[in-house]
Amino acid sequence: MLLSPDLNILVTQVELMTSDEEWMQQALELAAEAEAKGEVPVGAVVVLDQQVIGRGFNQPISSCDPTAHAEIVALRNAARSVDNYRLVDATLYVTLEPCTMCTGAIIHSRICRLVFGASEPKAGVIESRLQMLDADYLNHKVEYRGGVCRQQCGEVISRFFASRREQVRKAKR
Ligand SMILES: [Zn+2]
Repeated sequence: MLLSPDLNILVTQVELMTSDEEWMQQALELAAEAEAKGEVPVGAVVVLDQQVIGRGFNQPISSCDPTAHAEIVALRNAARSVDNYRLVDATLYVTLEPCTMCTGAIIHSRICRLVFGASEPKAGVIESRLQMLDADYLNHKVEYRGGVCRQQCGEVISRFFASRREQVRKAKR
């Protein structure tokens, strides 16, 4: 079968698009920065028009700010970089399923899509404890996709907590 010239252009454009998995790798790099600071390793990026406009990693302890989760840091960074408190058409990538606070911020930011990596069975509210983005009282709908690079994102967190437990055990000896 011969491809029409139009279809060829379409194929080229699709190839140029960066995939969810590739953006998630950038969020994972930020998670490593959190870990280097002794924070729970979670990273996030905000992407608009195939460009990163906001970056964040979890840092409540080092920044002495209980709201400094990766998602909120990335949303603030993105809003400043586009000089707009609303991030319409943007996608937020985060390595871990968001908590209640961050999901609230995601809704307020008006981003159109959320992509997350590992599930958070204790405090995640996208699919684990609640389906908060599906609540019928919301006047803004956020599309979402979970499980992108799930294993890699989950391993970063479980490795961190395993090494923390090991440190506690050594300290008790
Ligand atoms: Zn959070």
